[in-house]
Amino acid sequence: MSTERLNALPILFNRFGLERLTEDQRQKIATVDATLPQTQCGLCDHPDGCLPYAIAIVVNNEPHNKCVPGGQPVSDTIAEILEREPLIARESQWPVDPNTHRPTEVRAVIREDDCIGCTKCIPACPVDAIVGTGKHMHTIISDLCTGCELCLPPCPVDCIDLIEVPRDPAIETAEYRAKEQAHLRYRYHTHLNRVAEQMVDNTHSKPVTSVIETMIGNASHQSLDIDESKAKATIAAAKLRTKIKKLEKQLTARPNESKQAELEALKQELAQLAD
Ligand code: SF4
Ligand code: SF4
Ligand code: SF4
Repeated sequence: MSTERLNALPILFNRFGLERLTEDQRQKIATVDATLPQTQCGLCDHPDGCLPYAIAIVVNNEPHNKCVPGGQPVSDTIAEILEREPLIARESQWPVDPNTHRPTEVRAVIREDDCIGCTKCIPACPVDAIVGTGKHMHTIISDLCTGCELCLPPCPVDCIDLIEVPRDPAIETAEYRAKEQAHLRYRYHTHLNRVAEQMVDNTHSKPVTSVIETMIGNASHQSLDIDESKAKATIAAAKLRTKIKKLEKQLTARPNESKQAELEALKQELAQLAD
């Protein structure tokens, strides 16, 4: 496998000093990285993504079974490449997909009625799969989403759901996956380069917006443009729904008269907003 792509990496990876490694180490890193799913989720304890984990496996002898989305097949492939003992793969919260023998893949979906357009999810997405600007509802391009789950914690109204997406064995070939992974790697590096540029650009005053938004152009803007009063009502309704959900959860655990009354009042307020 060519190690050429290790020569032009985002600045974030400079600290690994890949240029000082031997050709044999670089070769192994490139091969291990090529087997990793490129979900860039950090579940292997490497928040900077798949390549840093590949480096740690080769250079620091880190266990090769920590890639959660890759599951047992990826752990076994790396063991074979590096001639190491096979290890049981780190467990996923998702069931194993019988077609791929990897954990079932998921995709994120924004409940658009609840989204308050705060933009907090956009910079969290390593592959720029979220489209939207401030005060407008956001949406996820599901074909680009890797299901890394990194957009969930920053969302203040908890309006992002995960749905399971079983793989189609008819298209699930090694070649298909390699292509897909190369694309995700490219998208992640583009994301990192853009973030680095924004960090040194003091004149940057706009909210962080996805490059995908530019690429898909007017089509999405038309559906995202809503007038100011509608935007305010959407934000107010989303906040009310969040409060209602919290109260409902609390009341399921422990009944409470005043909280019940508060819940009814919030529901009425929400119904009035919808009128
Ligand atoms: S896909 Fe695997 S190797 Fe990549 S960041 Fe996630 S857990 Fe780590
Ligand atoms: S949309 Fe969310 S789950 Fe999907 S790739 Fe982006 S951050 Fe990950
Ligand atoms: S973080 Fe949540 S509320 Fe904010 S824009 Fe993203 S999906 Fe919408």
